Amino acid sequence: MSEKILRKLFLGFIHIHILHHAAKEPFYGSWMIEELKEHGYEISPGTLYPLLHSLESDQLLKMHEKVNEGKIRKYYSITPMGAEVLEDARAKAYELFKEIKE
Ligand SMILES: [Zn+2]
Repeated sequence: MSEKILRKLFLGFIHIHILHHAAKEPFYGSWMIEELKEHGYEISPGTLYPLLHSLESDQLLKMHEKVNEGKIRKYYSITPMGAEVLEDARAKAYELFKEIKE
């Protein structure tokens, strides 16, 4: 039960994290899974890819295919709208952090 609630809560953090990296440089899915793991988030491809697709259809991310080591990978980068959302989310996250940190 609490696991389910935490997953829901962390989904917002994960969205911000994804936008943050997309703003820095294009990434591909399995790289993001590893990156999130390092930050303590276990997310499966079955969760991540639909999430990337929904960010793409909301026009916050854009995808392009690139060949990397003989494999076609889908790279995601941020759109101007995504950058605006990120800026907003960053301000809100910072505000919340200031409030709750002890
Ligand atoms: Zn990160």
